[in-house]
Amino acid sequence: MTTSKKDYYDVLGIAREASEEDIKKAFRKLALEYHPDRNKNEGAEDKFKEVNEAYQVLSDAKKRATYDRYGHAATAGAAGGRGFDGFGTVGGFGDIFDAFFSGGFGGATTQTHANTPKRGADLQYGVNISFEDAVFGTDNEIEIQRMDVCSSCQGSKRESGAAPVTCSNCKGSGQVRRSQQGFFGQFHQVSTCNTCQGLGTIISNPCKKCRGSGRERKNRKLMISIPAGIEDNTQIRLSREGEAGTNSGRPGDLYVLIRVRLHEIFARDGTDIHYTHPISVFQATLGATVPVPTLYGDTDLEIPAGTQPGEVFLLKEKGVPELRGSRRGDQFITVEVNVPEALNDEQRAVFQQLGEMLGESGLEDEQKGFFDKVKDAFGTE
Ligand SMILES: [Zn+2]
Ligand SMILES: [Zn+2]
Repeated sequence: MTTSKKDYYDVLGIAREASEEDIKKAFRKLALEYHPDRNKNEGAEDKFKEVNEAYQVLSDAKKRATYDRYGHAATAGAAGGRGFDGFGTVGGFGDIFDAFFSGGFGGATTQTHANTPKRGADLQYGVNISFEDAVFGTDNEIEIQRMDVCSSCQGSKRESGAAPVTCSNCKGSGQVRRSQQGFFGQFHQVSTCNTCQGLGTIISNPCKKCRGSGRERKNRKLMISIPAGIEDNTQIRLSREGEAGTNSGRPGDLYVLIRVRLHEIFARDGTDIHYTHPISVFQATLGATVPVPTLYGDTDLEIPAGTQPGEVFLLKEKGVPELRGSRRGDQFITVEVNVPEALNDEQRAVFQQLGEMLGESGLEDEQKGFFDKVKDAFGTE
């Protein structure tokens, strides 16, 4: 086992006279390169363990001196790989590594890494449409301003040519860890790398168009298909039409809020239409055929003789189409009876005559009946 072992200095790629600082540097570089969290290539984990083991020995002055003198033989004696003075097989290789980088990648830290794909923001846009357009549906072109993937660099953030290089300040982790000797011992501080702004890579040739952000503000025209029967205050979701994500993240969604303008004569209740139609006292009394407006054009409504004010008539299937369905609602027509206001003497005389002929008793009878009912209800005789 020990004979096949590579020289620890070779493993770290350093000279025998390397300084403590050189050893640290070499280890960081290789550990980052072969860390199993990052490097999924075959053999990477073994290489990582090898690097780790070499570092454990060479970073400790005493162990290094022993190794320099005896080579791998120093670890050969002990069974189970554990050599004298506790050096030999490195158990969980996390310990040293963690002490260095405090989880600079892997686990939760990865998610906050500046290079992590981020979903684009959702956008909301309001559209006002007419009452009729809501009933029959319409195609509406809208123009939105949004962050799109940069058309020049396609989101790569750089001009074509040289690929981004690993940041030398943070060795690609995006974070810098400072160890300081404090009163209570050593403490560590992790902060975002200033050199690369936490990206871990440095782009030497940032895209000129987007200044290296990978996105650009653009106006975009979209055709919105508004379905027949849509109601006021409805939101239509257009998947992936929001802002572009960063680092190849998914685009956000666009929500189009539909507001329906009021109609001059029609009111809407779901799929039903309500409408009030004025008729004359003569039409109400004698009956008439009157043209009434509907969403589908004028239609004749039969007003029977003796129609009372407030009476409601129904026009079947003259309402709004169901949003998801093939049926239509109805139109309700409430009759409003117009009473003549300014009568001349002659007209007033005719009305008086008519009143006498009809006998105000007719009305009195009705009123009497009404009062009798009230009396009955209260049980007074
Ligand atoms: Zn660009
Ligand atoms: Zn950096």
